[in-house]
Amino acid sequence: MIVVKSSAELERMRRSGRMVAEVLELMRQKVVPGVTTLELDRLAEDQCKKWKAKPAFKGYGGFPYTICASPNDRVVHGFPNAEPLVEGDIISIDFGLIADGFYGDSAVTLAVGEIDSATQKLLDVTRQSLEDGITAAVNGGRLSDISHAVQTCAEAAGYGVVREFVGHGIGRALHEDPQIPNYGPAGRGALLKSGMTLAIEPMINSGSPAVKVLEDGWTAVTLDGGKSAHFEHTVVVTESGPEILTSL
Ligand code: MG
Ligand code: MG
Repeated sequence: MIVVKSSAELERMRRSGRMVAEVLELMRQKVVPGVTTLELDRLAEDQCKKWKAKPAFKGYGGFPYTICASPNDRVVHGFPNAEPLVEGDIISIDFGLIADGFYGDSAVTLAVGEIDSATQKLLDVTRQSLEDGITAAVNGGRLSDISHAVQTCAEAAGYGVVREFVGHGIGRALHEDPQIPNYGPAGRGALLKSGMTLAIEPMINSGSPAVKVLEDGWTAVTLDGGKSAHFEHTVVVTESGPEILTSL
């Protein structure tokens, strides 16, 4: 069942969403050659403590960290570690928290120093595919309009859309109904209504869409070793169009 939020609940989700956006902005400022993802993880956790907010992922299904940190060929759910990022890397950072009973969830893929133009294009197209998906999240539309918009953008650039992981409803739970695949024909699935809150999150590979999960049971990597990007926003469907909750 898809939970429609009241205006009072949406106010609380706006606050959670803004906190998530502030943490990702902090990450953006700190991502330079030489920083480790474990340092980024501590910064994110410290900020949560200051706010008395609870990181969404730490302990979720046994996930051990506050952020998911997925460089280069890592797709999603990477563990932060003590290995410094180097010039030319990309790093996907996924972060969520719960505050005042409501979750926010967002992800961004960042360049570490200068990156080559092919990798920049992967980031640009993946961000655009998220924007296209968000644009399709309109009152009276269908759920798979979002999926189709993401897929159309990514595949037009020749990229692979990851199938194994999907977006999701969000609110009092991190993962609510519905699941939101990043592929499929338009015009199918649930009718979108004002007050539905959705985490839309394309995961796009530079080559084949195929992924595998490493022995840690979490880290997803591209099967062909190509790079992968991930962008996510928590969004609410409103009468006047989609509103991004995880922005500054
Ligand atoms: Mg996320
Ligand atoms: Mg998510």
